[in-house]
This record gives sequence, structure tokens and C-alpha cells, in this order.
Amino acid sequence: MQLVRNHEQVAVEDLHTRTMTASAKGTVAAPGRNVRQKAGLNRAILGKGWGRFLLRLEHSARYHGATVVKVNPAYTSQRCSRCNLVDADSRKSQAEFACTGCGHRDNADVNAAKNVLAAGLAVTGRGDLADRRSAKRQPPERRAA
Ligand SMILES: [Zn+2]
Repeated sequence: MQLVRNHEQVAVEDLHTRTMTASAKGTVAAPGRNVRQKAGLNRAILGKGWGRFLLRLEHSARYHGATVVKVNPAYTSQRCSRCNLVDADSRKSQAEFACTGCGHRDNADVNAAKNVLAAGLAVTGRGDLADRRSAKRQPPERRAA
């Protein structure tokens, strides 16, 4: 897989596909309010075969000696990759990100991907983006191992 042949480290969101799939169904007693929304999201995730993709990625990474880092996906789509402000209003649409704090504009997926990468680099101590970050920036959320 080219991702791990050409890169020492690949950072991905830890999406817990199975958990999200289960939660989308809700329960009879307390059906989730966001069931419809989650179901749509799950269809997208499962449709893209995220779980299978991740397995292939990790297998290939082992072969090529690369590292796959799974990072907490919380707020990656609402966080500004330039100033780290988290604001749902910055996410203008599925495709557009425009920071309400610093005015940074980017494709929403690209902005989120930069956050995922920064979190992955921070986990493995390879971060070299410090000069682009605010001093007030909070450390990326770490998942208890
Ligand atoms: Zn910003």
C-alpha cells in the first residue's frame, strides 16, 4: 500500500466502527435522538469499508515498518488546524471550513486531516508544527491505552 511505503507514519481517526454501528440502532426504550443522522454516518463509514481498510493499512504498515497511529476523532472537524479554536460554527458546510477565530479557510476534510496528523505526531513525539500553534493550545486528547 503506497501510504505506508512512502510514509513512516500514518495517522487515522479511531472511529470505533462497530460501536457506532450498534449505537445507531438505539434501543426500543430510549431511541437515540440522532439515530437518523448516525445511521447515515454509519452507512458512509461501512460503505467505504473503513474497518477493512484499516486492517489492510495496519498489515501493510507492519510489512513496511511504518506506524499507524489512531487518534481520538473528537472535534477534528470543528477544530481550526491553524489556531486550534474549536467551534462548530467554523464548519460552514460538509465541504467548507472557515475559522470563526482567525479566519483560516480550508477544505473541511483537509483541515480535519491536518488535525488528525498533528495529533498523531504529538502522540509519537514527532511533532514539528509547534511554530504554527498558539501557546494557549491544549494538548491533543489522548485515549487511555
Ligand atoms: Zn483559526
